[in-house]
Order: sequence, then C-alpha cells, then structure tokens
Amino acid sequence: MQPTGQHPTTAPTVRGATWSARHIGGPNHVVSVNTGEELIAALTDFAISQGISGGAIRGIGAVGRATLLFRDPDALTYVDREFDEQMEIAGLQGNIARKGEETLIHIHTTLGRQDYSAIAGHLKEAWIRGAGEFFVTVAEAPLEKQLDPELGLNILTL
Ligand code: FE
Repeated sequence: MQPTGQHPTTAPTVRGATWSARHIGGPNHVVSVNTGEELIAALTDFAISQGISGGAIRGIGAVGRATLLFRDPDALTYVDREFDEQMEIAGLQGNIARKGEETLIHIHTTLGRQDYSAIAGHLKEAWIRGAGEFFVTVAEAPLEKQLDPELGLNILTL
C-alpha cells in the first residue's frame, strides 16, 4: 500500500520535435511544449504521435505572440487579431477530436497582459515563450466532428 501522497512510478518521457510528454497514469498525460514553438501545432503533433483522437486539454504557461479569433455568427466569418507581446496563459482549455483522418484541436484561452488586464478568445496560434505546461486527458472513445454547413463550424457528432 502506497503512503498517501506518494506517486507510483510513471512511464518514461516521450519526446517530439517540439514537445516532451509523460503518461502520468490513467487517461492522463502531461505535455511540455518547448519555448519558441507554436502550441497548437505542437499539441496536434503530440496527439497524432500518441494516437489520441479524442480528449480534453488544459494548460498554463506564457506566450510571446498569439492570434485570437472572434466568430461573427451572422456573417459566418472569423475576425482575427494578433497580439505581439508577452502574455501569461492564465487559462486554456480545449478538446481533441477527429474529422475523417484529420486531428482537430479546438482551444479557447484567456491571456494575461503586462498590465494585468486579460484578453480572451478562440486560439488560432500562439508561440510559447517561457513555460508551456499542458495536461491531456484521453477519452475512452474517439471524438468525431463534422462540418455543419448551416453553422459553418465543425461540430461534435454525438
Ligand atoms: Fe472556438
């Protein structure tokens, strides 16, 4: 019997070109995205390399540049804005799903600026500058998305 608070041995570190990760038990992985790397590309590469086609993502860290999107549901357009400044990832959550053979990562985030104000939105891309610490929880079954032509969005098919 393990004493309370003592962790069992975990799996070895797995490394990609832009990230390192470890399976920490159950459905859970911890992923560190290397500084200077684009985090959605890195997490997508992690998911594909580990065969993960459904799950949840959460994380913290810091970025040096990010582009957020705001979707206009009437015009069916995304308006994106780039923020070229150092920001804390104050909150980040998302999901992993597949659409046919494609792995889709959908992330929303709140980013904290130097003056302690925050911006938030759908994350298009962001470059880690400092730490990039993510937890990925793998779903027991793959999650599928399909394009909803009326909404113009990839929607989970449940
Ligand atoms: Fe979104």
